[in-house]
Amino acid sequence: MPEQLDFNATRRGFFGLAAGGAALAAGTTAAQARRVRTSARIVILGAGAGGAAIANRLAGRLDGAQITIVDGRQQHWYQPGFTLIAAGLRPASYAISGTGDWLPRGVDWVQEYAAEIDPEANVVTTAGGRRLPYDYLIVATGLALDWDAIEGFSLDMAGPDTGISAHYAGPEYAEASWRALDRFTDQGGGGMFGRPATEMKCAGAPVKICFLAEDIASTKGNRGRCEFVYNAQAQNLFGVPVIHHRVRQIMDERDITYRYQHVLTGIDAGAKTATYRTPDGEVTDRWDFINVVPPQRAPQVVRDSGLAWADRWTDQGWIEVDMQTLRHARYSNVFGIGDINGVPKGKTAASVKFHLPVVEDHLVSEIAGREGTLLYNGYTSCPLITRIGRAMLVEFDYNDNLTPSFPGLVAPLEELWISWLMKEVALKATYNAMLRGRA
Ligand SMILES: Cc1cc2nc3c(=O)[nH]c(=O)nc-3n(C[C@H](O)[C@H](O)[C@H](O)COP(=O)(O)OP(=O)(O)OC[C@H]3O[C@@H](n4cnc5c(N)ncnc54)[C@H](O)[C@@H]3O)c2cc1C
Repeated sequence: MPEQLDFNATRRGFFGLAAGGAALAAGTTAAQARRVRTSARIVILGAGAGGAAIANRLAGRLDGAQITIVDGRQQHWYQPGFTLIAAGLRPASYAISGTGDWLPRGVDWVQEYAAEIDPEANVVTTAGGRRLPYDYLIVATGLALDWDAIEGFSLDMAGPDTGISAHYAGPEYAEASWRALDRFTDQGGGGMFGRPATEMKCAGAPVKICFLAEDIASTKGNRGRCEFVYNAQAQNLFGVPVIHHRVRQIMDERDITYRYQHVLTGIDAGAKTATYRTPDGEVTDRWDFINVVPPQRAPQVVRDSGLAWADRWTDQGWIEVDMQTLRHARYSNVFGIGDINGVPKGKTAASVKFHLPVVEDHLVSEIAGREGTLLYNGYTSCPLITRIGRAMLVEFDYNDNLTPSFPGLVAPLEELWISWLMKEVALKATYNAMLRGRA
C-alpha cells in the first residue's frame, strides 16, 4: 500500500530534528537494523544537499554496495545561508565547508563533473573520460544558474561600485552583494528586485532579500531616501495563493511597489538601467541597486542525457520523474533528488529532506525484492524572512495546502521571532543533520 510521508509524526516538517531528535535517532538505528546485502553499483551525481545525504543514508542501509559519488566541487555550500550573508548578518565563510567532510567512509568520491549520462547503456562518463557503469543512478546535480541569459550582465559586476547584487552565485558573491546593499541603504536611490520566469530554487529568496533591504534602510533611518520595486514574473508574488496574498499585504504596508509579469532580460551597468519583458513589450528602468536572480535550468549534461521531460519545461530540462516516487518515468533504475526533479514544487533544501526517505525506500526495497511504499507529497518549505528578527515559516504541498510543522504553535503566515530563529539557527543544524543522513 502506498504511504504518504507523515509530516506531523517523527519528521515534523523540515525542522523535525530540532523538535524531535530522539525520535529521528531511533529511526536511524531501526533503519540500520534493516541493512540489506547487495553488490549493486550505485552512482550518485552531485554531492550537494541531496547527493551527500543520500550517500550517507544508503551507506547506512546497504552492505556490500559499490557507491560512487561524482562531483568536481571541493566546497560544499550551505545555500540557505546566502540570504543572511547578502544582508550582512554572516560572513561568506558561514556557508562554506568541504565536500569531503560530509561523505561517508566506503563511498568512492570521484572528484570530477559528469560529462555524459547514457541511460540506455547505464554508464556515466566524467569530464576526465572515466567510465562509470551503474545498476542504479541517482541524479542530484542541482541546477545551473543561467547568468548569460541576462544580456549585458557578468558576475564580476557584482559589488558596491556598480550597485549590483547577485547573491545566488555563491558565498563570495553574496558578500559582495551585501557591500552593494550596504552602500545603497546608506546613500538611497531606487532598488530593483525580482525573480526569473523559469522554475527556481527557493522561490522565496528574492522576496526575502527585498524585505531585508527595506528593513535595513529603515533601521538606518534612510527609508525615505530609498524606493523598492519587486518584479514578479507571473500574475502573483508567490505561486501559492494564500502566501501571495500575505506577501502583497506586507508589501502594501511597507510601501514596496510590485509589478506583475516583469521579467528581467538585460542590464546596462554603466547607464544603471534594466530591461524587462512585459506583456506590453519591453520596459527599461533606472536603478541604483539591483538584485539579479537569473533563469535556472538543469545542467547541460542532464539536458543532453535523454532524462529530461520531452513535453514540459522544454527550455529548462528537469528530469522526468514520477512526482510521488521520484523514480524516472522511462528508466526505472534512475531516481532524482533535489532541484533537478521535474515536479511541480520542491526546489528547496527542505524538500530534499522529504525526497530522501522516498528514494531510499524505493531503491533499497527493490534491491531487497520488495516494492517501495513511501510517496513524496510536494512538501516545500521556505522561512520567509520579513525583517531582521522576523519570519513566516511557510510550508506547503503539491496542492497548495499549508503543512505547518508546529500546528497551533507557529502560525505560518505571521511574522514571528520564533520563525526567524528557525531560519537563523535551527535550519543549519537540521540541514547538517540531513547531510549526515540523520534527518
Ligand atoms: C539564495 C538561496 C537561498 C536559499 N534559501 C533556502 C531556504 O531558506 N530553505 C531551503 O530549504 N532551501 C533554500 N535554498 C535552496 C537549497 O539550497 C537547494 O534547494 C538545495 O541545495 C538543493 O539541493 P540539491 O542537492 O538539489 O543541489 P545542490 O545542493 O545545489 O547540489 C548540487 C551539487 O551537484 C554538483 N554538480 C553540478 N553539476 C554536476 C555534474 N555535471 N556532475 C557532478 N556533479 C555536479 C554541484 O557541484 C553541487 O555540489 C536556497 C538557495 C539559494 C541559492
